[in-house]
Amino acid sequence: MIIVLKPDATEAEVAQIIRKIESFGLTAHVSKGTERTIIGAIGDERVLQERPLEAFPFVEKVLPVLKPYKLASREFKPEGSVVKVNGVLVGGRRVVVMAGPCAVEGREVLLETARSVRAAGGHILRGGAYKPRTSPYTFQGLGEEGLKFLAEARRETGLPIVTELMDTREASVVYEYADLIQIGARNMQNFKLLKEVGACRKPILLKRGMSSTVKELLLAAEYIMSEGNYDVILCERGIRTFEDATRNTLDLSVVPLIKRLSHLPVIVDPSHGTGKWDLVPPMALAAVAAGADGLMVEVHPRPEEALSDGPQALLPMTFAKLMGDLGKVAAAVGRTL
Ligand code: PEP
Ligand code: MN
Repeated sequence: MIIVLKPDATEAEVAQIIRKIESFGLTAHVSKGTERTIIGAIGDERVLQERPLEAFPFVEKVLPVLKPYKLASREFKPEGSVVKVNGVLVGGRRVVVMAGPCAVEGREVLLETARSVRAAGGHILRGGAYKPRTSPYTFQGLGEEGLKFLAEARRETGLPIVTELMDTREASVVYEYADLIQIGARNMQNFKLLKEVGACRKPILLKRGMSSTVKELLLAAEYIMSEGNYDVILCERGIRTFEDATRNTLDLSVVPLIKRLSHLPVIVDPSHGTGKWDLVPPMALAAVAAGADGLMVEVHPRPEEALSDGPQALLPMTFAKLMGDLGKVAAAVGRTL
């Protein structure tokens, strides 16, 4: 149930309705918008049917949310969410570009890549220290050492860092270093992990599972939000289809669709979405044209030497050219870069 308060509702009235909701055994989640406060009452809503909350003079309306996800639904925050990543706003007018290597491979190569991302105007540095690899015999990531290199790259470039958390047992060490915690496609429905990051106070980048529907993606976000962490950014990264000419099928139609269904920011990863570096720039431009709030792009100074995902990595020069082109598309759709 979504309870929309009148614009002039006071703090005391907000507290009063929260107490009332909690007295019914429901959980109250508060969304403070620019215009008004909205409260999500989560739990068995049938109890509210006999006790109409509209009776309070400061309640404007009570809406049932028919969708299975409530806190992630657009109704909960009609004006849209802006998620702050160590000072970088995702979901506002600026299109935010997260770029860097697939994996942190070493100190020098990471610093070299980070400098090129910074020089080209990227906003957030990406790099995996814990890598979910299809084969157990391939490079698995540097672990905490990789996180330390990321922190050094952040110190030098000023770029916030996003890195993947794969396992609840590594949560505290990843929280220590990361500005944005990535939950990868393979873990989108790892519900224990979702609850773990729902209880932390860092923003979360939730990637769509490769065989997951939009509804499942939004329910995964709901897992995180229902634990109290509302700072969730969604990421379309391609899905499995019959098509095998590309690594995945980048489903750009979900960008405007999710914008309609949810208030959460949405970014697009054309690197994993296509698997081919030369398809990355056009799909990145298309993503911004479709309304994406940002991009995640893999960049490597020597893709042929990369320990993972070399074929989809952009050279720094190609990334810099892409940034220039993105500025034009962003301007065309009323955004900035
Ligand atoms: C990644 O971004 O490093 C990654 C492994 O992507 P995905 O989870 O989308 O496959
Ligand atoms: Mn990768």
